[in-house]
Amino acid sequence: APAIEILSAEQVYPNGTRALMPVSLTIAPGEFVSLLGPSGCGKSTLLKMVAGLLAPSDGRILLSRRPVHDAGHDPQLSFVFQEATLMPWASVATNVRLPLDLAGVPRAEADARVAEALELVGLGRFGAHRPRELSGGMQMRVSIARGLVTRPRLLLMDEPFGALDEITRNRLDSDLLALWRQQGLTVVFVTHSISEAVFLSTRVVVMAARPGRVVEDLRIEAPWPRD
Ligand code: ADP
Ligand code: ADP
Repeated sequence: APAIEILSAEQVYPNGTRALMPVSLTIAPGEFVSLLGPSGCGKSTLLKMVAGLLAPSDGRILLSRRPVHDAGHDPQLSFVFQEATLMPWASVATNVRLPLDLAGVPRAEADARVAEALELVGLGRFGAHRPRELSGGMQMRVSIARGLVTRPRLLLMDEPFGALDEITRNRLDSDLLALWRQQGLTVVFVTHSISEAVFLSTRVVVMAARPGRVVEDLRIEAPWPRD
């Protein structure tokens, strides 16, 4: 089954703003899709609708043929927010463990999965640290680890690299590519960087503003072997 089916989904916010004209897209399992476009073209709106954080004002969205429900209740889906949004008073490990604690996963199993997720993002030695002791790039990786700890099939990210400097971004980019290959995840992320979209994704959905809409749907031939 397709990982994501967006069926003429559109968004008019309660104040009357039309954020998105009807969008239809089918995304297969294992695709790495970027939503690329200028500010205000409805990228975040579309991602939130896929995550079930915002209901389409018309149309439907299916994940594995089932209607989306709230991201917080779907263990198959993880949403990584633009800012790292970590609890500053808690250790890195506690931050990453949060979704498992909320799901009532027993402590020993949760700790093992936290260690695994931190290892995946290259922060295996940083579990006991506080977020503020880490750089911006490392904090973003903690946030991604928290998204991965539930072992989702689908990872959604809203400009995960937006606030980072270029070197950090490049490092995160390659970490993420490696992860994606390793885990067979379906990934959808929002960006306004053409290079990031082209370098990272296997498919670039180009959007335009006023009104927000999809204008191109491009499949990228990767410039290097992708196995
Ligand atoms: P992008 O992520 O591409 O910058 P957004 O999805 O955030 O675009 O916004 C698309 C349009 O919808 C913009 O015109 C924005 O101002 C508007 N918008 C976003 N959120 C809301 C909201 N909660 N209420 C009203 N208008 C909104
Ligand atoms: P930023 O570029 O935002 O400062 P980075 O992720 O590049 O963030 O990391 C900053 C510094 O933290 C690096 O110079 C590196 O020495 C250290 N660092 C990052 N990841 C690790 C890691 N997995 N193990 C040890 N040190 C790390």
